[in-house]
Amino acid sequence: MLVVGAGITGIYQLHRALEAGFTAALWEAGEGVGGTWYWNRYPGARFDSESYTYAYLFSRELFEEWQWSELFAGQPEIERYLNHVVDRFDLRRHIRLGARVGSAVYDEASGTWSVTAADGATTTARFLVAATGVLSVPYFPDVPGRDGYGGESYHTGLWPSSPVDFRNKRVAVIGTGSSGVQIIPVIADEVTSLTVYQRTPNWCTPLNNAPITPEEQARLRTDFESIKQTLDSSMAGFLHQPCDRASTEDPPEARQRFFEKMWNSPGFAKLISHYTDVMLDEEANAEWCSFISAKVRAVVQDPCTAEKLIPKDHRFAEKRPPFVAGYYETYDKPNVALVDLHETPILRMTETGIETAEGERQFDIVVWATGFDFGTGALLRMGVVGRSGLTLAQYWADGPKTFLGVQTAGFPNLFFPGGPHAAAGNNPRYNGDQVDFVTDTLVHARDHGYDTIEVDPAAERRWTAMIDRGAAKSTFGEISYYFGTNIPGKPKKYLLNSGGRPKLFSTIAEVVDSDYEPFRLGRAASPSRSA
Ligand code: NAP
Repeated sequence: MLVVGAGITGIYQLHRALEAGFTAALWEAGEGVGGTWYWNRYPGARFDSESYTYAYLFSRELFEEWQWSELFAGQPEIERYLNHVVDRFDLRRHIRLGARVGSAVYDEASGTWSVTAADGATTTARFLVAATGVLSVPYFPDVPGRDGYGGESYHTGLWPSSPVDFRNKRVAVIGTGSSGVQIIPVIADEVTSLTVYQRTPNWCTPLNNAPITPEEQARLRTDFESIKQTLDSSMAGFLHQPCDRASTEDPPEARQRFFEKMWNSPGFAKLISHYTDVMLDEEANAEWCSFISAKVRAVVQDPCTAEKLIPKDHRFAEKRPPFVAGYYETYDKPNVALVDLHETPILRMTETGIETAEGERQFDIVVWATGFDFGTGALLRMGVVGRSGLTLAQYWADGPKTFLGVQTAGFPNLFFPGGPHAAAGNNPRYNGDQVDFVTDTLVHARDHGYDTIEVDPAAERRWTAMIDRGAAKSTFGEISYYFGTNIPGKPKKYLLNSGGRPKLFSTIAEVVDSDYEPFRLGRAASPSRSA
């Protein structure tokens, strides 16, 4: 097996493959392991899922020996953890760094994939597992003159490994998604001036991070089994428990108290443990949004800036909401300015800065916090060619078609856990579910003497239709990058599993019960047949 990508999913896939007795190697484009947590090393990058719920759960010893310092760990600690895992399970000798896959071509006669890296290295694998992630291709908007800008320029998702010196610099940050709102408060005090270029404000609520106390560390170790059980079965892969009532069941004063409790709750509790109607009912959502707006107005002293920071075009959770620490407070600092791109759009980059309708501002550093080509970006850039010369780019020209978000018809022995059509929630949990399924499927094939495996097109059609149907009912709107709408020209298709983790679990159970009926198992150089 060749695994591509040494992020959370790829590292786990490599471990599971070796454990199951496969010969396995992993190629990674970066010069270190960590995937998202290697590339996104910008100041302020940190988890917004609780550290121990994002970490691996396959080894109790690992869980017990690694003590996270904070409820939401910062990038350096996460990168250290992933390096620890790689060494702890003796995976490093199977990993080749600096190997960006540029082409992967299926050979029907042998049932294998020929894979070539950008540096010319080649290999052949029977099974190719692209653990290339959903947020791994940084997006740079096509701003005229971008290449002619002469100052320092960085994308949050491609951050250099040597620290960027912000001291005494005039800095621009473009974009106010989860990455932008993390870096903005962290660099504000270092820089001479910080100008934030905001197109759409987001509903930002506090992350509420805290150190993990020694007592809590001890409790985590004691509770490992119950934590694991909850995380393995919960709908979105979190420990947060759903609320037992709708907002309409509480009188107005109690609602305000509950909103205050939500405001002070950690991270995603604000989605999962909120009133049952807040994500579904417009009025309930609007009341929560009014509560957040009042918080913003109370913090941001300049009323005009406060209004610009309050979303007017989308509900809470219509886009993936960011969680923040000291974000709104940043705009009260004298060296920080907000440029509203709806009022004054960027016209072009100059050699020295950014020109909008209000004129040019000069910068030493421009930070692009402008997001990613979500879901399909990395897979479509891997030069994947399946059976009969069909490219993945051709087959997915109108959007991804998958079964369980792990395989696509016409591309035998290729799997992509943690890719498009994965469930929404705490990523490592459902990506891990997919890795387990892929590994178990390959063991099943091996045990029965098969060496090719390909999903039946009918099963793929059913799964993809289920995703499209569910997308219409999703909390996320078409304004969200989950529909691919942030990338010009990208097909507007829902890129998550709208059936969620329960649908993933129930379909996997059906697959196993039916003896892998939705897959065609075969022997290379022999006609494929249904199992
Ligand atoms: P993002 O959410 O897609 O935000 C991109 C930002 O760039 C948006 O504000 C967008 O504005 C702006 N933008 C895009 N094109 C622009 C243009 N031409 N001119 C001006 N502004 C433009 O990307 P992200 O912030 O990198 O976050 C992506 C995802 O990564 C998150 O949703 C989350 O899943 C993950 N993430 C997680 C964490 C964490 O806490 N664990 C941290 C960072 C990221 P519009 O909204 O108007 O398009």
